[in-house]
Amino acid sequence: MSAPLIYAGVIVDLKVEAVDRIFQYSIPPEIDSLSVGHRVLVPFGPRRLEGYVVQLSSQLEIESSQLRSIIRLLDPAPIILPSLVELAKWMRNRYVGLLSEALQYMLPPGSRYGRERVGAKYQQVVTLKKPNPDLRPQATAQKRVLEVLKQNPRLLAADLVEQAQARYGTLKSLESRGIISITSERLERTISWDAVPDPSFKLNLEQEEALRVIREEREGQKRPVLIHGVTSSGKTEIYLQIIKEVIEQGQQALVLVPEIALTPQTVNRFGTRFGRRISVLHSALSPGERFDQWWKIYRGEVDVVIGARSAVFAPVPNLGLIVLDEEHEGSYKQEEGTVRYQTGEVAIKRCELVGAQVLLGSATPALESYHRALQGHYRLVQLTKRVEKRPLPAVEVVDMRQEFEQGNRSVFSKALKTGLDSIVNTGKQAIILLNRRGFSSFVLCRECGHVLRCPNCHVSLTYHRADDRLHCHYCPHKEPLPNLCPQCASKYLRQFGVGTEQVVEALGRELPQLKVLRLDADTTRRKGAHNRILKQFSQGQAQVLVGTQMVAKGLDFPNVTLVGVLSADLALNFPDLRSSERTFQLLTQVAGRSGRGRHPGKVIIQSYEPRHFSILCAQKHDYLGFYRQEITFRRGLGYPPFRRLTRILCSGPEKEAAAKAKKIQHYLLDNGFAEEDILGPHPAPLSRLQGRFRWHLVLKSDFSLSPLLRKAPKSTSEVRVIIDVDPLFLL
Ligand code: ADP
Ligand code: ZN
Ligand code: ZN
Repeated sequence: MSAPLIYAGVIVDLKVEAVDRIFQYSIPPEIDSLSVGHRVLVPFGPRRLEGYVVQLSSQLEIESSQLRSIIRLLDPAPIILPSLVELAKWMRNRYVGLLSEALQYMLPPGSRYGRERVGAKYQQVVTLKKPNPDLRPQATAQKRVLEVLKQNPRLLAADLVEQAQARYGTLKSLESRGIISITSERLERTISWDAVPDPSFKLNLEQEEALRVIREEREGQKRPVLIHGVTSSGKTEIYLQIIKEVIEQGQQALVLVPEIALTPQTVNRFGTRFGRRISVLHSALSPGERFDQWWKIYRGEVDVVIGARSAVFAPVPNLGLIVLDEEHEGSYKQEEGTVRYQTGEVAIKRCELVGAQVLLGSATPALESYHRALQGHYRLVQLTKRVEKRPLPAVEVVDMRQEFEQGNRSVFSKALKTGLDSIVNTGKQAIILLNRRGFSSFVLCRECGHVLRCPNCHVSLTYHRADDRLHCHYCPHKEPLPNLCPQCASKYLRQFGVGTEQVVEALGRELPQLKVLRLDADTTRRKGAHNRILKQFSQGQAQVLVGTQMVAKGLDFPNVTLVGVLSADLALNFPDLRSSERTFQLLTQVAGRSGRGRHPGKVIIQSYEPRHFSILCAQKHDYLGFYRQEITFRRGLGYPPFRRLTRILCSGPEKEAAAKAKKIQHYLLDNGFAEEDILGPHPAPLSRLQGRFRWHLVLKSDFSLSPLLRKAPKSTSEVRVIIDVDPLFLL
């Protein structure tokens, strides 16, 4: 018989490096069953803190005189699934971050607002009882709560706290004075969708073969399956079919999509197929709604969860499958906090821990993923044709330098203008993509070359017509556009680069017969705006949709027969090792929006660098050709997937940030790290952000650096150190 597990290892809920380790506690007799994943109250120094049980052991690793006892359980059942506790531990090691932060991803959202008991189906609802009470003048939070309640006299506590920017304690004190009442009520908000006709077609041979392979892996080795399928080849249909089988076996599935692909179109398809037992986690949900969904999932009342990045942690009790659609998407990388995880990797680990299957899908797999598939780590499935033998669109590349030479000063080439002209009064539609990832229209003095920059961040400012001001895109700074150059007083300050607003204006001038909608960060700021614009377009209320990257992903509008790409190559000049790959992916994806219905599609790509291989391969729909050229280049330079990159970013006051970066460099050299594998320390390309100076080191290695980096010099109150394993951006 093995020794009884009488000591609990607890992580306290303080996101501080110094206490981010496991503390042992004894288990008092009144707790008769304690599991990994339980939330507990523990004594910690002079304080009492919440914590999470992450291990149980029979061995005491501290002096027995120091051993203290858990005070009590905070919920009757464990709040974090044991497999997710394991996953959090793995993430901490892999990404060299805080375990307390990794565990946070596994908790119900907003659990720091009102308390919900595990397994309860009730939530706290606040009702206004006395609309005009006497409040002390300084009770501003209480006043905000009342203001919100006067608009809406019954609200969920979690929503109220967020809208009034108050704390739960504020509600409690209003309750104690009889001004509001807080009651527990059963409240289910459900997700709505428009039923779409569920097509009854037969899968084609390639789709059948894909399903066969997925089934084979699910029952056997459970290697991740990568579906490389051209746009509109029926990938989503395969997901739907395999999920149906997973559900029939009593298991649940997670479907991860990039946030901007979480459109009504996606939800409608899953809703129609799986009915009420789906859960959709998108960013527009209120905290209360998120909270609701989390508990439904936890209780096993949901078969399919659809969501963006963080849905990979959804607490389904019996996971059978994770689908990662558009697996190459950059938004799957967490770019904040200390645990900068890659969703695909986390999904694979989670499935490995519980014996579930991973399915990756894309028309343009990330180079790393395709490489892994060719090496046999993933099982590769190819869908080479569009459904119903529809052709891929014809792609024409226009050389904008020639257009300029021939006197065309418009943002539209002759070919694109002719194309747009030809859809007038035909019921057909067009999408225009303005590619400006990482680029802004900046303001430059034509006499002295001075560029207007943000005083805090040192990045160029962008002119916004809406409020006639210059905006910084990295901090809240705004300023009026000066009349004269601040450096040389010349009056030839000029804006460079075009924005979506100018494209819409140009369309209005040059093709006034066309009705136009705009989809970008500005027009989608309001809740629901994104979906409303897409709905208007799908109902044919406009013929042209102009937008940024948002229009490139996942949209399925059968009447779109023309796609135009303005300035295809801007991103090519970006200082980034993946700029060719991103350009190829973007062009292929946006081209995939054309000709999805019965009418064949056309694509016009405008470029200043029309011979670049990213553009030529996108023109020929040639993924493999692109892969071969790009992989050769990566091999030559020792870039991923051949060697690993790790980035260490130090930010703070100028001298201290630089000193910290040098200290880390010395630490690495002292521990045997080769000098030629350390790039830097240098100021980062964005050398100043929000008033902090930024220095970085980029490391190349053939193995995981986690053990080494765990002991490296850490953040202090002055300088923040961020470790980014397999970074996407080096800005
Ligand atoms: P993808 O995810 O690869 O872009 P979808 O699964 O969205 O492709 O399929 C594109 C369209 O074709 C959808 O409207 C879908 O319902 C339809 N479709 C999928 N498979 C078939 C098939 N075998 N026969 C006919 N239509 C199909
Ligand atoms: Zn000037
Ligand atoms: Zn700024």
